[in-house]
Parts: sequence; C-alpha cells; structure tokens
Amino acid sequence: MSKAVVTRFAPSPTGRLHAGHAFSAIQAHDRARASGGQFLLRIEDIDGTRSRAEHVAGIIDDLRWLGLAWDEPVVFQSQRLSLYAGALERLAAMGLAYRCVCTRADIAAAASAPHGAGGVIYPGTCRGRGVDADAPHCWRLDMARAVERTGPLSWTDEIAGPVMANPLAQGDVVIARKDAPSSYHLSVTVDDAAQGVSHVVRGVDLFAATHVHRVLQALLVLPTPVYRHHPLLTGPDGQRLAKRNGAPALADLRAAGIDGAVFAMDLRAGRLPLGFGVAND
Ligand code: GLU
Repeated sequence: MSKAVVTRFAPSPTGRLHAGHAFSAIQAHDRARASGGQFLLRIEDIDGTRSRAEHVAGIIDDLRWLGLAWDEPVVFQSQRLSLYAGALERLAAMGLAYRCVCTRADIAAAASAPHGAGGVIYPGTCRGRGVDADAPHCWRLDMARAVERTGPLSWTDEIAGPVMANPLAQGDVVIARKDAPSSYHLSVTVDDAAQGVSHVVRGVDLFAATHVHRVLQALLVLPTPVYRHHPLLTGPDGQRLAKRNGAPALADLRAAGIDGAVFAMDLRAGRLPLGFGVAND
C-alpha cells in the first residue's frame, strides 16, 4: 500500500498573497485531495522583523475565500524554534556548521557573484576562521564537508523526473540567521519531515533550494518527500507574478466582490486574464 499523500502550503507572512500564491496553494491542495490525502497550512514566520500578524490573518482569509480547507491546526514556525535549534546543534556537533560574521556588503565585495538559491554564493570568508561567539553571527553549512559525508544524493520530482542533487552549486548556505536559531532551509527541512509531508508542491523558483534541503535531510536522517515544482504564473510583462510588478493582492480581488471559488476554478482551468500566463520553464 502506498503511503498517504500529505502536502502543505507554507507562505511567509511578510506581505499579501497574490494570484501566484493562490495558484501554488491550489496545486498543493488539489494534489492531496486527488489522492484522498491531507493538506496542511504552515506559516513560515521565523523572520521576526518582516512577519506580521495582519498578514497571517490575510492568508487565512484568502485561502478560505479560494475555498481551500486544511486538515490540522495551523503550524507556526516561530513556535518551533527549539526544534530547529536542536537540528543546528546536531550539524554543529558533526563539524559541518560554522559561525559567520560577514555582512551582506562584505559578501558582495568578496564574491565575484555566481547566484545560488539564496542569492550570491558565499565566498567562504569565515570558514575555518575563529569567530568570536559573542559577535552577532549567523551559522553556515560547510557544504563541501557535508557532501563528502553524504555522498551523491537524488530526489524524484513529479514534473522534472529524477534529479541528481548538486548542493555544491549553492555554496555554504545559512542554516541559522543572526536573529534566529534557524533559517528558511533548516526550518523547511525539519518541518516537512516532522509534519509527515510526503509531497512538497511548490513553485519552480524554489527548485534550487531543494538541492540544499536534500543534503540537510541526509545529514539529519530525515525522509525525502517527492517534489513537484510547478511552473509559475506570469504577468502581462512576461515576468513571474510578484508584488513588485503589480500583481493584484487576493485581498483586493476579495474586496472587489470577486467570487473566490470561481477564481480558483479559473486558475485550475488555465482561464487567466488577458496577458497573464504560465511560464513553461
Ligand atoms: N515560505 C516560503 C515562501 O513563502 C515557501 C516555502 C516552501 O514552499 O518550501 O516563499
């Protein structure tokens, strides 16, 4: 018997959701429902300075408006920091994590800038350098040592097929921020396992991050979900929908009296307003 399908939608409450988020949430929801599985909602609010309660409320209203229901109580990452701190400690005890005091400006100046999942690839300035534990610091994964330990890794993507992980191309990613004992990469990996997520359905913009998540799973001895990195919605300018290129917030569509269930059916059927599309990369 195959395992029950569990998917999740995991927005960061740092702004209002737009149609691209709706598209993603619907796909995660429908992937679970199509197999009689469970759909979960997780609020990724470890960024204490940018996360806002009003956005959490907005996300919940938006999803209800779209006609999406989730199965378990909503999980908030801000309430699970000790879990991530434990994972960080394990990585540090394996000799795979190091403190880094570099600022964004230091990194930009030192790197001749290939880009990975988190932007510029970290040039490794603090690796092997004694950093004062009292100075404000983040923690980074020593990717070369991590990969030496795990050996070759792969995952299955329902759209891309079998994928060989290439985490070295992402460099020494941040696994704990200066202001929190975790980072996006670490919390997502720990939570997907803790919540029993069997299928991670998310936009193809997060494909590169999966190379990192696969390594963290191997190091922390966590199961590897099946992935489904879906194409992104694009706006009339051909760019992926984003607040900065004027994508309307779902809250505005709601306020304009648009029926959310009909809007969700339109997204499912690919009936998009003129000029909008689905990127095929
Ligand atoms: N919280 C992430 C975001 O809003 C998504 C996390 C994920 O789906 O893995 O971009």
